[in-house]
Order: sequence, then C-alpha cells, then structure tokens
Amino acid sequence: MTKRVALVTGGNGGIGTEICKYLATSGHTVVSTCVDAERENVRDWQQQLAEQGVQVDWVECDVADFDSCAAMAETVLARHGQVDVVVNAAGITRDGFLHKMARHNWESVIATNLNGAFNVTRQFIEGMRERAYGRVINISSVNGQSGQFGQTNYSATKAGLHGFSMALAKEGARKGITANTVSPGYVDTAMTAAMPDEVRNQIVSQIPAGRMARPDEIARVVDFLAAEASAYINGANIPVNGAQFTSF
Ligand code: NDP
Repeated sequence: MTKRVALVTGGNGGIGTEICKYLATSGHTVVSTCVDAERENVRDWQQQLAEQGVQVDWVECDVADFDSCAAMAETVLARHGQVDVVVNAAGITRDGFLHKMARHNWESVIATNLNGAFNVTRQFIEGMRERAYGRVINISSVNGQSGQFGQTNYSATKAGLHGFSMALAKEGARKGITANTVSPGYVDTAMTAAMPDEVRNQIVSQIPAGRMARPDEIARVVDFLAAEASAYINGANIPVNGAQFTSF
C-alpha cells in the first residue's frame, strides 16, 4: 500500500519537529508548513532531520490566511497526491490580562490557533471523505481545559479546538475520518523558554510530575491517534500533562 501522507502545521516548531519524526518513523510521508522558509532556516532543519534518517518535505503557509492555505494545499496535493492526516500544531501566544489586552493580540491568536485549524483542515476534508479515510489531530492545551491567567485569547482558542474536534468527529465517523484533540501540559520548547524564569519555576512547582513534558512525550500520542488502528477513537481529548489538571 502507498504511504499515508501527513501534513503537520508548525511542524518545524518544538513539538511539531517531534511529531514529524514520529509520523515519519511510523511510515508516513510527512510535510510540514512553515511561515517563512528563510527566516526559519527550514532547509537547515530539514537537513538535520535527514541526518537522523527522517525525510520531511515543507511548504510555506500562513495558517491564519485562508488563501495561503489554499495555495499550500495545491502544492502539497501536486507533490504528494493526497493528505490523509492533518495535525494542527501551529500556535502562538500573546498573553495579557483581558483588561489590558490589545484587540490585535486577541485577533492574532484567534486567527492562528483557531481559524488556522479551519483554514487548513478545510483544504483536505473533502478528499478524506471521498477516500473514506482521514485523521485530524488538533493540538490544544491544558490551559484550554482549565483556563489560565493572562490567556483569555489562548484559552478560548484551545477550548474551541476541542469543540471543533468533537463536531468534526460526528461528521466524519461514517466516512472513516477521526478528529481528536491532544492537550499538552507545559512542554519544554521555545514557547515556554520565552517565559520569565520566575514564572516558569512557579509553573513547574505546581506540576505533580515536577517537570515539564518533553516534546516527544506529546508526539507519541499524536502518532498513536494517527494510526489506522485508532479508528474507533473519535472526538476524544487526550491530556498529556503530568497530572497538572485531572478530570473525569
Ligand atoms: P513553537 O513556538 O516551538 O512552535 C509553533 C509553530 O507554529 C512554529 O513552527 C511556528 O512557526 C508555527 N506558527 C506560528 N504561527 C503560524 C502561522 N500563522 N502559520 C503557520 N505556522 C505558524 O511552539 P510549541 O512547539 O511549543 O507549540 C506547538 C503547539 O503546541 C502550539 O499549538 C501550542 O499552542 C501547543 N502547546 C504548547 C505547549 C508548550 O508548553 N510548549 C503547551 C500546550 C500546547 P514560526 O517558527 O515561524 O513562528
């Protein structure tokens, strides 16, 4: 059988890179999006992965822009024929208390984290329905489940992503398409490295595991959901948070 094709948005980010590695190792053809290939040194990133035996293609795309996603899809489909797995991992934070939040910080987080999932998934969902096979995996966050100070924008998008997964799960269930959410706790990536030390230390002190997650600990769950054998897991949210937030 030909390889399944997986598209990972933000695949060159901290968590995304590990997702790409896992999906390639489990036999997928993997394509990552990047916003700006030159600025992000994507060729170097691709070369480093190749030296580890991992082949990943990439296409420029701003997930916040529907037309950019349509152009990306055209390129990916021309090169690889189809997309069977979409991982919506691109995400940003623009933190601030609501009473101080600038409108553009609200809008940019919604546009990237939530609209991005629509803009990308919409390009491939019809093909998945036609072939009666698809996996959509949305990277949410513990802060979408619990809420977090200074993150009304981010928490709203991450909670919204799971609503998107649950609704799409129902729409796709008879078409061989699953849609699930992975909700990481705090993960050791550039996103958390950007926090002031005292904030990061305070957060870690409240995680029962006593540490942040490694990106590969998130990636293995994504790979599990992407597998053909995970066909009956649909509309689920899998927390990966070191017991930071537990719910029934
Ligand atoms: P990174 O900042 O390392 O990676 C984010 C990726 O998203 C980057 O490749 C970034 O590209 C890309 N991206 C940002 N904006 C856009 C856009 N408009 N179009 C396309 N790509 C874009 O973060 P992480 O790896 O830590 O985060 C990955 C996902 O996991 C995010 O959705 C995040 O919200 C979520 N998450 C992270 C947690 C953490 O503690 N790190 C915890 C819970 C969830 P560029 O490099 O150009 O900015």
